[in-house]
Amino acid sequence: MGRLYAVEVVYRGIFQKTLAKNITRAIVLAAHRDGKHGISFGRYGDSPERNGIPAKAFAIVGDDEVTLEEGMAKYEPKEVDVTICVDDTLCKGVESWAWYGLQPINRLTKPGGTLIVTSLETPERLIEMSHRKDTPYKLAIIKAAASFSGLWVYKDDHTDARILGAVARVLPELFSLGSLQETLKEENPKTGELLAVSAQKQFDRTSTVGVAAGEGNTEVPYTFEMPKWTEMREGIAIPGIPAGAAIKDPVTGEVGGFQPERNPTFKKYLTRTMRPVVDFEKCIKCELCWIACPDSCFDVTPEKLYDANMAACCGCGVCEAICPVEKCITMVNETAFTDNASQWQAFRKDAPAYKSWLVTVIENRPDRSHGFRYRGQYEEQIKQEVSHG
Ligand code: SF4
Ligand code: SF4
Repeated sequence: MGRLYAVEVVYRGIFQKTLAKNITRAIVLAAHRDGKHGISFGRYGDSPERNGIPAKAFAIVGDDEVTLEEGMAKYEPKEVDVTICVDDTLCKGVESWAWYGLQPINRLTKPGGTLIVTSLETPERLIEMSHRKDTPYKLAIIKAAASFSGLWVYKDDHTDARILGAVARVLPELFSLGSLQETLKEENPKTGELLAVSAQKQFDRTSTVGVAAGEGNTEVPYTFEMPKWTEMREGIAIPGIPAGAAIKDPVTGEVGGFQPERNPTFKKYLTRTMRPVVDFEKCIKCELCWIACPDSCFDVTPEKLYDANMAACCGCGVCEAICPVEKCITMVNETAFTDNASQWQAFRKDAPAYKSWLVTVIENRPDRSHGFRYRGQYEEQIKQEVSHG
């Protein structure tokens, strides 16, 4: 029996679906040039896949057909040589509707395996965000903003080529750089030469940082007690969620407004790559964000301000787009936050401190956008990324 290789790509549903598919497909094609056998496939985080929901794609490669067949007898790999994370905010953890509970980003990474992350953050920050493991692994960073596109468009900013160049570097047994470059040229007749250059550059500049056993986020990811089949009852009952209640002002004690009761189990903390931050002093109380939010995230405060509740927000950006007041709602990269606390509570407790936090968090926010804020944004981003790459 030969060796079996497994690579997973953890991505944000739809925004990065084509990117993930391009990476896993190219891995299999490049390995095939080196005489190996492989298959790539997706595991939806949600079905149908939705914007922002974490999802996975895999490339499984064997030295020979029998090895591959044996490897593919499992539903999906239990461990992988390389985990590729194409949105660094997923280092906080991955929760999807297709599996139960929060999965650490490095959950499947083998002892001594490599986690490759697309990020503008430092290794220290990414390690701090990622859950600790009992075994050591390596971290490699591709210096770039997370690449997002849509269902009908693909932002060809060379993120795929760069990641593939990094894989060739950290796992040279899987495929050679030369085979990768040939694959990129053959698969992309118009842009292949340039993609091959990007792959080479990333191959040359990729280095890894060792992450020791026990290093990283000490939080214990929450888990579910699954009933055994012998314990399951006939039929199901889905308990309703109570309507909700008024909110108490933390300073004056005034009670008013309305906070809908939310699902006690499913939280959307990790479906977000960005979150809205609200400048309450600019708010004209027009209610548009409250009406337009597809997930009914806004809590209405006693003085009729609108506070986006982070347990419910999936970070779609609709509220920012609809708010009529300039810079009243700003979407900010999730890596800027370490908790999910209420912004309004912080504003009520100390308005000047909240204002200076707001200015800092907005001004220092790492670059991030879904890429559809205005016409022509994709083209601008592609130019920028390709010139960096
Ligand atoms: S980003 Fe805004 S509109 Fe979208 S889910 Fe969050 S609060 Fe609602
Ligand atoms: S849309 Fe903007 S101005 Fe209107 S209520 Fe929401 S935050 Fe306030």
